[in-house]
Amino acid sequence: MEPNAQENAREREALPENASCRCCVVGGGPAGMMLGLLLARAGIDTIVVEKHADFLRDFRGDTIHPSTLEALNDIGLLDEFLKLPHQEARELKARVGDVTIPLADFSHLPTRAKFVAFMPQWDFLDFLAAKAKLYPTFRLMMSTEVIGLIEEGGRVAGVTARTKDGALSIRADLTIGADGRHSRVRQAAGFAPLDIGAPMDVLWFRLSRKADDPLESFGRIDAGQILALINRGEHWQCGYVIAKGSADEIKAKGIGLLRERIATLAPFLADRVAELASVDDVKLLTVAVDRLPLWHRPGLLCIGDSAHAMSPIGGVGINLAIQDAIAAANILARPLLDQQRPPDESLAQVQARREWPTKATQGIQVFLQKNMVARVLAAGGKIEPPWFLRLFIYLPILRRLPARLIGIGVRPERVRAPAISLPSEQ
Ligand SMILES: Cc1cc2nc3c(=O)[nH]c(=O)nc-3n(C[C@H](O)[C@H](O)[C@H](O)COP(=O)(O)OP(=O)(O)OC[C@H]3O[C@@H](n4cnc5c(N)ncnc54)[C@H](O)[C@@H]3O)c2cc1C
Repeated sequence: MEPNAQENAREREALPENASCRCCVVGGGPAGMMLGLLLARAGIDTIVVEKHADFLRDFRGDTIHPSTLEALNDIGLLDEFLKLPHQEARELKARVGDVTIPLADFSHLPTRAKFVAFMPQWDFLDFLAAKAKLYPTFRLMMSTEVIGLIEEGGRVAGVTARTKDGALSIRADLTIGADGRHSRVRQAAGFAPLDIGAPMDVLWFRLSRKADDPLESFGRIDAGQILALINRGEHWQCGYVIAKGSADEIKAKGIGLLRERIATLAPFLADRVAELASVDDVKLLTVAVDRLPLWHRPGLLCIGDSAHAMSPIGGVGINLAIQDAIAAANILARPLLDQQRPPDESLAQVQARREWPTKATQGIQVFLQKNMVARVLAAGGKIEPPWFLRLFIYLPILRRLPARLIGIGVRPERVRAPAISLPSEQ
């Protein structure tokens, strides 16, 4: 037998055609992996199902916010986590026209880590997966794509999935949809999100970083253009904000135009914009802002992007996803441990707890989209910072508010779900 065939045969033997658990989490993103870890840590038999074979995918946000670091501290993992390679941003600045505005200062946050950590999302997810696997109550099924829900007597009783070896059904007392903004689970449940909309899309790309480049991550805003630059050590992760639906037009004009615009916005990058060989080096993020009116049905709850896709303003999507996971674990661990199917009221409690922070954050994002992003994108001439932004230069105390909103968010969650001892500690 060929080595690959042997490998496949071994995996097939290990993979049950039908599995069951108390909680099946669909999606191994930030929300799903954090919830999987917290439930397994509470002693609840949990399966996380992820359609990809690994966590190594395109850039999709590398920000680990102080609130997430605080949650890792709550479960005793922060020091180990911070040993992984990362960068730390203690403040955020924006350059509007010719004026640099210090927008957010994280140093006053009431958290142990007073910074945003930048780390590839796959390293973060690998870390959560490795910690969750220490618990015998945790199973991670990679390369397993959920295609539907099992419904029985008006309840969701698990999921159907496909693997490279065939169909699989996983029965569960509770199913969690944490499968992102194109959620199959929410679609299968018949949930339709309320589309709030956004005036922009984002083109993402990388440029190399040199030793004498600025240290901090920052935004550059000028006539009709917005460029976000995130210091990732060896490279800059760049986000170029464009008017909604204009990506094809920009790409059709060729990479030369984009190179020119980047060099004008951030002149220190002019010597390396040629690293963008063609428009294929640029990835489009179609910005969506939406939320579900109802996050749950008997036996099913949606969290993270599956319940609410956030605008990229403030880079808080991961933060909210993780906060949902913590709230869900806090509220649902006890009923799951008591060997009950979590009653509808518990699922409604999770929505009630997290819906308000979602609406408030989206409200602020939509306000900024309309009053800043859309205006800047439509502006023709030179941009001047509005008076209220100039106040941030002279009144440092003002920088604490954006730091709080970005770093901790509205209604922060602390881990309160119980914990069992690890087998190694027994
Ligand atoms: C280009 C880009 C840049 C971003 N930048 C930032 C940023 O800087 N900061 C920030 O906070 N947020 C950022 N975001 C948003 C952020 O990625 C999301 O808000 C966050 O990842 C949501 O987490 P989640 O776990 O809810 O969903 P996701 O991260 O989308 O995870 C869902 C998981 O479910 C899996 N899945 C999907 N369907 C199925 C299925 N049928 N069966 C099994 N598994 C399935 C997916 O493979 C995925 O792993 C960015 C997003 C993009 C696309």
